[in-house]
Amino acid sequence: MAKQMVTAAVLTAPRTIKLEQFEKPRVNPENALVRVEACGLCGTDAEQYIGAIKSLNIQYPIIPGHEVVGIIEKIGKKAAERWGVKIGDRVVVDSLIPCRHCDNCTVGQFNLCSGWNKTMMGYSYVSCEVSPHLWGGYATHMYLHPNSLVRKIDKTVAAEKAVLFNALGGAIHWTYELPKLKYGDRVLVIAAGLRGVMCCMVAKAMGASQVILAGIQLDEQRLRKGLELGADHSIIVDKEDLVQRIRELTDGKGVDIVIDLSPHATESVIQALEVIAKNGTIVLLGLKNNAEIKGFVSDKLIMKACTIIGGHGVSYTAFKRAISMIEAGSLPLDKLRTKVFPLDEAHLAMATLAKEIKDDEVNSIVIMPALRG
Ligand SMILES: [Zn+2]
Ligand SMILES: [Zn+2]
Repeated sequence: MAKQMVTAAVLTAPRTIKLEQFEKPRVNPENALVRVEACGLCGTDAEQYIGAIKSLNIQYPIIPGHEVVGIIEKIGKKAAERWGVKIGDRVVVDSLIPCRHCDNCTVGQFNLCSGWNKTMMGYSYVSCEVSPHLWGGYATHMYLHPNSLVRKIDKTVAAEKAVLFNALGGAIHWTYELPKLKYGDRVLVIAAGLRGVMCCMVAKAMGASQVILAGIQLDEQRLRKGLELGADHSIIVDKEDLVQRIRELTDGKGVDIVIDLSPHATESVIQALEVIAKNGTIVLLGLKNNAEIKGFVSDKLIMKACTIIGGHGVSYTAFKRAISMIEAGSLPLDKLRTKVFPLDEAHLAMATLAKEIKDDEVNSIVIMPALRG
C-alpha cells in the first residue's frame, strides 16, 4: 500500500516557509490524529514568522499554528476514552501540551506548566524534526499527544468561528478571570488586534460600564470595529494623549482595569499606571522583548493600592467557557472581518498578520488546509 502523506507548511527560519510532506503517523492506544479543518493565527504566529521575541525560544524548523479545529481521523482506544471523542468527531485542541505532573498542572493551571525538562510544550512550539513531526496546525493533519487538552465542538459552528476559541478564551481569562471584572467597572484595552477587540466584547458582555479601546493610527479600521463589538470609545495613541483622554472620558476617575496587549512598546505600561484608578488592576500581556520600563515609578502603585498581573496564556476554565460561548452563538462574532488562506499561502497569511502585507481591515486570519490556492 502506498504511504499516506500529510502536507504541512514548515517555517524553517524567519520569513522562510515551504510546503513539506510527512508520512501520516500511525496512532497507538494513547494518541490520535486530527484532520485540520481550520487553524487560527495569533500574535505568536507573527513573532515566530519574524523571529523577534527572544523569550519565545523558537526551535526552527516548526510547523506553526496552535488554534486548531478539526475532525478526529484516527484515535487510540485510551485516548478516545480519555477525551470522550471518537473518529469523525469535531474537536478543538488547546494550544498547550501540559506535563500534568508539575505543581501548576496538578492544580489545573496548565497554562503555567513548568514544562517538560524545563521546555514549554505546546503545538507550534515543538520542532518538526521531533517525531511524529506534526506538531502544528498549518498542515492537513496534526498529531494529538496524549497530554493534549481536547474538547468537542458542535459541527454546526462555522470553522472560522470555531477557531476563535483561543482568542476568546484569552479575552475571558485576561478581562474577566484575572482582574475579577465586576459589574459597572471601567475598562481600558490597549492594542486593537483580534485579542483587543475580543477583550472589549467580553468586558461589555460581563457588564463593564465603560469600555475604551486604544490603538495606533494604523489600526484605525480595527478601532472602529472595536466600537461595533463592545467598546464605547476609541483612542488613537499616536494622535491623541491617552492619559488626558482617559481623564476626560472618566471624569478624572481613571479606569478600574487596564489590559495591555501591545507588543514591544513600553510606554503603555507607564500610561496604564497613570490612568488606573485606586484599587484597580493592570493586566500585562504584550511581551516587550525583555525591555526595561523607563520611567516606572513604583510609588504610584503603592499610593493607588493597585495590582499588576502578568497574564500568561489561557486558563483551562477560559478555554471551556470560550467553546460554550461560541456554541451558544450569542456573541457578535459575525461582525469580525475574517481572511481565509489556503495552506500554500501560509506565508501570505503570516505576512498579513505581521502587517508586512497591508490589510487595514482584517481582524481574524485563518488557514484552511482543504482550500486550494
Ligand atoms: Zn496563540
Ligand atoms: Zn506541568
